[in-house]
Amino acid sequence: MINLASDLDGTIYKGNKLIDGVEETYRLLIKKNVNVIFTTNNSSQSPDVLKLKLEDLLNQKINIENIITPLKLFKFYVDHSKYKLYVYGSNNLKEFLKNSNYSLTSLEKSNAILIGRKDDINIDEIEKIINYVKKGKTIYCLNKDLTYPTESEELPGNGAVVKIIEDNMKIIIKSFGKPDFFYTQYFVDSKIKVDYVVGDRIDTDINFAKKINAYSILVTSGVSNFLPEDSADLKLNSFSEIIPFII
Ligand SMILES: [Mg+2]
Repeated sequence: MINLASDLDGTIYKGNKLIDGVEETYRLLIKKNVNVIFTTNNSSQSPDVLKLKLEDLLNQKINIENIITPLKLFKFYVDHSKYKLYVYGSNNLKEFLKNSNYSLTSLEKSNAILIGRKDDINIDEIEKIINYVKKGKTIYCLNKDLTYPTESEELPGNGAVVKIIEDNMKIIIKSFGKPDFFYTQYFVDSKIKVDYVVGDRIDTDINFAKKINAYSILVTSGVSNFLPEDSADLKLNSFSEIIPFII
């Protein structure tokens, strides 16, 4: 069986709209016995919410095992009984973690800090976090995306805050997003050999493909890249063009 890892935002859909031709291509891939694994850095929606969204857009049942997100990997790798977590992030994120049995607390009482995304960057809060990390608190982040796409524009992502902390402290924060440690490790630990990666970002998707030794396909249906696009093995306009290169 061929394993194909596909990004979501900018590759399968944009906002709430499926990208042209994706539904037909997805059906054909399934018919040809290609296992499509959805690999996203989206950490503002739970895997269940993404499953419903995909089922609605693709008119197909989706196996939740085939949706890999930073939140899923956080749950997989971080034992909920081990930490009292301070979460820098949205209420949605906090709710998801509480529902997954994590105990959330104040920065002072926490023994680990998780960086997610908030709509407004809070510099005071970031400075406090830096001080506590200097004193030895563990820190993780959900992904290092500098921006994230909305239907109309790209806005500052988790990575903007992560970069402030990393640059200030000269550290590397462990991340649950593509192409970072836990994301690639998950495919090693679950013994999934990915043959192809499709995505619209060089910094996340194409670098993820390289780290797991998969063939990388860049699609230009999503974001504009700040890194050179010739690092991808193949460049196409859209997911709907991949079939001849895979089957
Ligand atoms: Mg994308």
